[in-house]
Amino acid sequence: MDNKVTSFKVLKTPLENVKDNALLIGFFEGQTGLNADLKKLDKEFNGIISSYIKENRFRAEKGEAKSIFTNKGIKNVVLVGLGEEEKYNFEILSSVMADAAKKLRNGETETFSICLSSFSGHSKEEDAVEKIVLSCLMGLYKFTEYKTKDKDKIKNVKEITLITNSNKNFSSEINYAYAVSYAVNKTRDFVNTPPNIATPGHIAEYVKDVSKKSNLKCTIFDDKQIEKMKMGCFFAVGKGSVNKPRLIVLEYFGAGKSQKPIALVGKGVTFDSGGLNLKPYPYILNMKDDKGGAIASIHVIEACAKLKLPVNLVVITPFCENMIDADSYRPDDVLTAYNGMTVEIKNTDAEGRLVLADALTYACEMKPQAIIDIATLTGASMITLGNVATPYLATDGKLSEKIKSASIKSLEKVWEMPLWPEFEDSIKSDVADIKNISEEGDAGVIIGATFLKNFVDETPWAHIDIGTTVWSKADKGILTKGATGATVRLLMEMLREWK
Ligand SMILES: [Zn+2]
Repeated sequence: MDNKVTSFKVLKTPLENVKDNALLIGFFEGQTGLNADLKKLDKEFNGIISSYIKENRFRAEKGEAKSIFTNKGIKNVVLVGLGEEEKYNFEILSSVMADAAKKLRNGETETFSICLSSFSGHSKEEDAVEKIVLSCLMGLYKFTEYKTKDKDKIKNVKEITLITNSNKNFSSEINYAYAVSYAVNKTRDFVNTPPNIATPGHIAEYVKDVSKKSNLKCTIFDDKQIEKMKMGCFFAVGKGSVNKPRLIVLEYFGAGKSQKPIALVGKGVTFDSGGLNLKPYPYILNMKDDKGGAIASIHVIEACAKLKLPVNLVVITPFCENMIDADSYRPDDVLTAYNGMTVEIKNTDAEGRLVLADALTYACEMKPQAIIDIATLTGASMITLGNVATPYLATDGKLSEKIKSASIKSLEKVWEMPLWPEFEDSIKSDVADIKNISEEGDAGVIIGATFLKNFVDETPWAHIDIGTTVWSKADKGILTKGATGATVRLLMEMLREWK
């Protein structure tokens, strides 16, 4: 996506001097008349804006967009409705902006301008710039890698100009938004990539390349090493596939060597057939998204390096494929985890927690100050949170607060679930230390976390279950149908503010 990416520039100029294919101007509901800047522009255009508003009853309802053809320096003035002023926030800004950018792109507009002050509401312009750039770059995302026909007809916005009265160049906000949107979009690219291409080996080669370019320390363990290290749970899950597992560890040192790292552990199941507990149709579809947590973590550490964030970070991503073969692990098997615990398998489709169990123990050995795992572990929160918010659980109040606060700033919604001890009984096994599912099937998100808790020590730990938010069924606002890049914005915001 590098060479296709839209560029942004900032221009300090009166609106009437703008020369572009389109100029976006935001309006609140009930906003009567035009402010001084717009009045000048309107006068220049012989009152075309004010008369259009009057005659066409542009109400500025949230998401409303009306384009006025002027054929002047600005060819089209686009009036964008922001809804009620009191309710306006960055979430509305992001979705309205992304939709407007998509509409212009689909209309083959290659460049356009944005009147910054009309979209910043009561917030600082620099904060609005960050959200505008992010939402345009996320909204304009398209996955076209495997299209061979009419490739030249795929449209793209080449340049967006932010028109301002301010002397600021907003370079740090634009840089941040670029790095984060690149991480989100690259995560989408990889999660969208089909499982016959994005195998553990293929991803390992890609990550090697990323680590070289970003100066990250990269260690890759292959299947033989994973077996030798006695990661019995992780190894068992990958056994049924010809695409052998890889454990990829990336390290970034942005703070002093004495500072303990923050560990991100991401589930990287490149395709989840369910194993011998084979998933039926249609649940087997889209199981390429089961690597979403690992892919997000890899692009987060790359973005941290790009932005030179003052943190030390380690990313641990176990990649494997859960397939069916004579060598596959089975229900009733008892596996010995990397930390020595025995696990009875009751369902081979609850493989994510097995893969993560060994990776979490490995993370603990690196003595981090906190561990956060990101995993498409269950879809169990669909009934309570739908696709709107991501559930998480934490053993530490401070870490939980960090996630909550990053959620508000990044606009990625999360909801904390409890890790109560009552749930521990559900995974007691008759033959081993624990079993990998609760046979009652209740409280799926919490049971998953309760299982994982056995593999972390006293280190503050949080588990983020992106099973329902990794994928979008709709093309709306910053989302496009397909992979969402879930948790990239959240984690970046948390690491940016980390103290
Ligand atoms: Zn599964």
